[in-house]
Amino acid sequence: MQVNWRWIHAARNSYAVLYAACERDGFLLQPVDRPADDMTCYSLNSINAPAYRDEIAAAGCLTIAGGPHATACPREVAGYADYVVVGEGEYTLPRLLEDLRNGGEGRIPGVMTGSFYEPAKSSVRLDAYPAFSGMKGYVEITRGCPHACGYCQTPQIFGHCMRHRSIDAVARFANRHGQSRFISPNAFAYGSDGIHPRWDKIEHLFLQCRHQIFFGTFPSEVRPEFVSSESLSLITRYCANTKLHFGAQSGSDTVLEKLHRGHTVADVLSAVDLCLEYSLVPVVDFIVGLPFESDEDQRATLSLINEVSRSGIIHVHRFIPLPGTPLANAVARDLLPEGEKQLGKLALRGRLTGSWNDPAVRFFRRPSNDIP
Ligand code: SF4
Repeated sequence: MQVNWRWIHAARNSYAVLYAACERDGFLLQPVDRPADDMTCYSLNSINAPAYRDEIAAAGCLTIAGGPHATACPREVAGYADYVVVGEGEYTLPRLLEDLRNGGEGRIPGVMTGSFYEPAKSSVRLDAYPAFSGMKGYVEITRGCPHACGYCQTPQIFGHCMRHRSIDAVARFANRHGQSRFISPNAFAYGSDGIHPRWDKIEHLFLQCRHQIFFGTFPSEVRPEFVSSESLSLITRYCANTKLHFGAQSGSDTVLEKLHRGHTVADVLSAVDLCLEYSLVPVVDFIVGLPFESDEDQRATLSLINEVSRSGIIHVHRFIPLPGTPLANAVARDLLPEGEKQLGKLALRGRLTGSWNDPAVRFFRRPSNDIP
């Protein structure tokens, strides 16, 4: 039975993870740029899902869809894909493939079809699965997040309890390559409950990594209140990054509170100052067009963006109401005319990246042939 993986750039790390998980059960996911026999798997996010919908519906082979969008809207996706993997795929996808290979109907926990659904019985223990195998990926060190930011799908998909890959396992994968990057909702929370940092565990992890590592920068951004002398000493002592990436999201404490971000504007300013003290360039995320921000709130955000851009890099994107989140039904508000002007100027000066008009730009690449 030939199982294919629809190559989608945004889902490249899901491919690395699932390639490794399925390989262990004898399924080699072959990358393809269109659906092909016997079956083709897709990982969809909520921005690119509409672009693949018709392709999946018209596919002349069996189709399996997973990823954040399939998990948030399984019934919708089951309307055009044959099988939907709801939630984490490492355990469920190989079980589904095995069942189909044996002539089954795919009625297994964690899979939805047009006529069947039973939730997965447990969540994945990261150490039970390789971070990657033949397809190199980032090393995912942590899943789940105890925070509940209103716009974020992460806790909805992976739960509020942090699950960490063990230090030995992380180091084993990191040491396979000359350079490694990590995936985490907050890299500085590694080894902890997500609220109370465990610097000892992070240092232990760093000591086990023999090659160059990038930590606290894409794709393992951190939260601002975890930026401290302890964390930055570790970064400058053991890591190769010259930047630190964290989320501010808004310059208004009122908005941060409504978002349930769990930090303040003062935490952001303190994180920026500390980065500069440790000669790290702060890269700071902002969301513009949040549904409940007043003009005054938006001006506060623009003012903070201006301030941070003097010494750091701004990464801005427009609010997207993602399905499955508390703000799923909210509508993005418009950007003030002076805001458009300010962000444009900062982008031209190389101080700002991202997209404040078209949220899809950040997440969606047209289907292409860049198969690995
Ligand atoms: S934005 Fe980050 S901190 Fe907030 S819920 Fe999502 S993963 Fe957690």
